Amino acid sequence: MVEIKTDAALEAMREAGRVVARALAAARDAAGVGVSLRELDEAARAVLTEAGARSPFLGYRPSFAPTPFPAVACVSVNDAIVHGVPDGYRLRDGDLVSVDCGAELDGWTGDAAVSFIVGTPRPADLELVKATREALDAGIAAATAGNRIGDISHAIGAVAEAARCGMPRDFGGHGIGRRMHEDPHVPNRGRPGRGFPLRHGLVLAIEPMLMAGGSDAYRTDPDGWTLRTADGSRAAHIEHTVAVTDEGPRVLTLP
Ligand code: MG
Ligand code: MG
Repeated sequence: MVEIKTDAALEAMREAGRVVARALAAARDAAGVGVSLRELDEAARAVLTEAGARSPFLGYRPSFAPTPFPAVACVSVNDAIVHGVPDGYRLRDGDLVSVDCGAELDGWTGDAAVSFIVGTPRPADLELVKATREALDAGIAAATAGNRIGDISHAIGAVAEAARCGMPRDFGGHGIGRRMHEDPHVPNRGRPGRGFPLRHGLVLAIEPMLMAGGSDAYRTDPDGWTLRTADGSRAAHIEHTVAVTDEGPRVLTLP
């Protein structure tokens, strides 16, 4: 069931979104050569705690997962696409890092992700992150009242295709509100003019995941969480929580 939010709920979700933005900024600021993934998670956790926000990630256990998620952020490095579990791995020069974090504040949830490079970037990684951001921007631009979910999916897919990047077929964006994952599903590929109609008050997490190797194939680590590119190429993941409004798309997870 798709829940259309009231304007008051959109304002509440904006506050949750600000906390997410701050948590992601803290994780990114903490990142550097020699810093462990767990330290990035701790930086995000401190922001949530200070804001009085609950983590929708911590203890989360979807049907595919063998264990509850142990952290407030997913940290996915290099060939890891999404759902990386922050551990003792210490970042190295040139690592491509994606951090995904959520916050629940006063009963409303925000969800966003950033990709960035530690130290000296490889040109190909800069291109990959740029393409992923462009895919997200195209998806957000298509999130207008009167459009349909397929218009968002098509916009994202077109950018990924032009950049010759793959995307994992089974994962995409989602409705979001009181819970992190609500209907409708927002695929990262699709046909324009198809799917659920967009209207004022619909809130979506839009999240392209691009794989540099061009293949859609991925594999899951033995931890049951971390998704990696099957060909070992690098991946990027950038996400925002976006409200469809009569005034145009409103990004709720900006600072
Ligand atoms: Mg997310
Ligand atoms: Mg999400």
